[in-house]
Amino acid sequence: MPFNELGLSDKVLSAVADAGYTEPTPIQAQAIPHVLARRDVLGLAQTGTGKTAAFTLPMLTLLEQGRARARMPRTLILEPTRELAAQVEENFTKYGKNHKLNVALLIGGVSFGDQDAKLLRGVDVLIATPGRLLDHVERGRLLLSGIEVLVIDEADRMLDMGFIPDIERVCKLVPFTRQTLFFSATMPPEIQRLVAQFLSNPVQIEASRPSSTAANITQLLVACAKEDFAKRETLRNLINSAENLQNGIIFCNRKSEVAVVQKSLKRHGFNVVALHGDMDQRSRMQALDQFRTGEATLLVASDVAARGLDIPAVSHVFNYDTPHHAEDYVHRIGRTGRAGRAGAAFTIVTPADAKSLAAIEKLIGRSIDWKEGSSLDALPPSEARPRRDRPERGERKGERGRGKGEPREEERRGARPARRREKVEEVENAPVAAVEEAVAPRGERRPRGEKPARPAPAPARAPVTPLTHRRSERAPVDEPADTSHLPAFLLRPVKIKAG
Ligand code: ADP
Ligand code: MG
Repeated sequence: MPFNELGLSDKVLSAVADAGYTEPTPIQAQAIPHVLARRDVLGLAQTGTGKTAAFTLPMLTLLEQGRARARMPRTLILEPTRELAAQVEENFTKYGKNHKLNVALLIGGVSFGDQDAKLLRGVDVLIATPGRLLDHVERGRLLLSGIEVLVIDEADRMLDMGFIPDIERVCKLVPFTRQTLFFSATMPPEIQRLVAQFLSNPVQIEASRPSSTAANITQLLVACAKEDFAKRETLRNLINSAENLQNGIIFCNRKSEVAVVQKSLKRHGFNVVALHGDMDQRSRMQALDQFRTGEATLLVASDVAARGLDIPAVSHVFNYDTPHHAEDYVHRIGRTGRAGRAGAAFTIVTPADAKSLAAIEKLIGRSIDWKEGSSLDALPPSEARPRRDRPERGERKGERGRGKGEPREEERRGARPARRREKVEEVENAPVAAVEEAVAPRGERRPRGEKPARPAPAPARAPVTPLTHRRSERAPVDEPADTSHLPAFLLRPVKIKAG
């Protein structure tokens, strides 16, 4: 179905044509007519299926009638992160180029004064993160009583970040008669409850099963010992041997690991940037821009930092860690194979990841193949082996996997060779604690002298709890959740008596 049969205005259609879109995506084709008919919509579709335009385009058409009043925005879009909010603003600029609408962004890291001045002028479209929005409301600088359309985007991500109470508050501040558009990639029970409470007789649209991964993506597992240096080497080999690699995202489970892996790759001459929760807004935007424009070919990221971001056309996804939450696997994989293009996703699996892998395969409803010749059985039983932070000499040589005169694999592939090779060796082989200490951003450092958190023989495995549980309840013991939004006193360690 072409765009011009959906009921969109001429102004919108001409901007869409200029953007180069020829056909609406399934979620757009299904949602747009209902949004235009002022129905509440519940849209479920994987990451990268075009949900943003599914609400932006009809909203622009609806906004052509009426005018904004000071401090009373007409429409409100809630986004879980500043980056996503900024992306939606870009969408309004692109598709709204034939409109004279005032669009304002209320996100952290931008001065209150500037934002306030915009609100005073009257805003047609307000795009906000929940916390900053409520700040403005509490200061009495913003009235939500004129909201005609409320959009709650990336709802499952809001849940991950603990924003559900804020969203409930916002829903109670906007008029009862507003239209609500709700988008999510998955539907955990908390989200279902929210929908039942705040949407009125919604049209439910499901563009593809939320737990499915696209068929045009090659997915492979790669067995590896759980030691960090072994995983980093496996990762380098995977990147080096990847076919048709244009750009790739490397996912880590912990934000502290993101920094370590990025530094390591960089020292090995890869063109790589990082995205994690402890970076300031400017560096995050900068990293994302470098990756979007192709200036950087690899991006190392954590799930929380990357979910929902519009990063078009990624050829490869590398899971440096097997995700502990099966849905995260679906989200990660959703980064490649977009718009029908072929993609590839590799997941590094260590013996400790067996349960997480089983949960993933259960969720996606099929088993994932192992890369040729790779199998967990072929590994030495790493659980039984005492942990050595510093590999022996011979092992280090083996890790390189090349003779003295042979070119490094990266060099053969034309990557920039690492300049400070000695430093590479040093960092690659230093005890994990020292490396993390050296590269971890502030706030993640372990006090000097303290041992790495993982005990030598590691009997503890991440518990696999049913998917229906709250994320906060199923945070595995050894993987701290993103706590950046919590006040410091909540993060103090608590002593529990053994009993
Ligand atoms: P989602 O919110 O579902 O994760 P986005 O709205 O961020 O997805 O869109 C993903 C990508 O698809 C973006 O790069 C966007 O420009 C592109 N896109 C959206 N709609 C279309 C379309 N109709 N045709 C081609 N590309 C599209
Ligand atoms: Mg989106």
